[in-house]
Amino acid sequence: MKKVVFLDRDGTINKEVNYLNHPDQIELISGAAEGIKLLNENGFTVVVITNQSGVARGIIEEKKIPLIKERLCRLLEERGAKIDGYYYCPHYPDGKIEKYAVKCDCRKPEPGLVWKAVEDLDIEIKGSYVVGDKTCDIALGNNIGAVSIMVKTGYGESEAEYYESSPDYTVDNLLAAAQWIIKNNVDQP
Ligand SMILES: [Mg+2]
Ligand SMILES: [Zn+2]
Repeated sequence: MKKVVFLDRDGTINKEVNYLNHPDQIELISGAAEGIKLLNENGFTVVVITNQSGVARGIIEEKKIPLIKERLCRLLEERGAKIDGYYYCPHYPDGKIEKYAVKCDCRKPEPGLVWKAVEDLDIEIKGSYVVGDKTCDIALGNNIGAVSIMVKTGYGESEAEYYESSPDYTVDNLLAAAQWIIKNNVDQP
């Protein structure tokens, strides 16, 4: 079984735009593709876990989500980086769209999408990592017993001032996170 790095999407891989709802809005953050490529090359499974409450809020049509994923993956592939799994939560309890306006078990920091990835992929949670720009990402890491790494891209810089859950480590961007993981990952074969 392979070790896994769970990555947040918005503000971690692609630039944060408030409720991204069109593939054309995807723009990679500097160092993101390089960081993912480095994780690929070092034998980690890379899984994206993203809260997309814009679906419940009526800002994003759910059918757009695969198109956004395709463009993100294509931009990464052009730079030699590969995503092994991609999971999103469309829910939000106070949302406008009835179908999605529920309290679910998959909106980060709830770990529902992590358990889904465990069913689908050959990964082990022990010794895994979570990288993201928000406290919900760090809290997800704490909830699954993973090492949590905060990036200062996206909301990372502003959230750093009032962490509700403190990360195990804070770095400038996803490339720095990948480098830190590889350097500190003790029991790699
Ligand atoms: Mg984010
Ligand atoms: Zn959900």
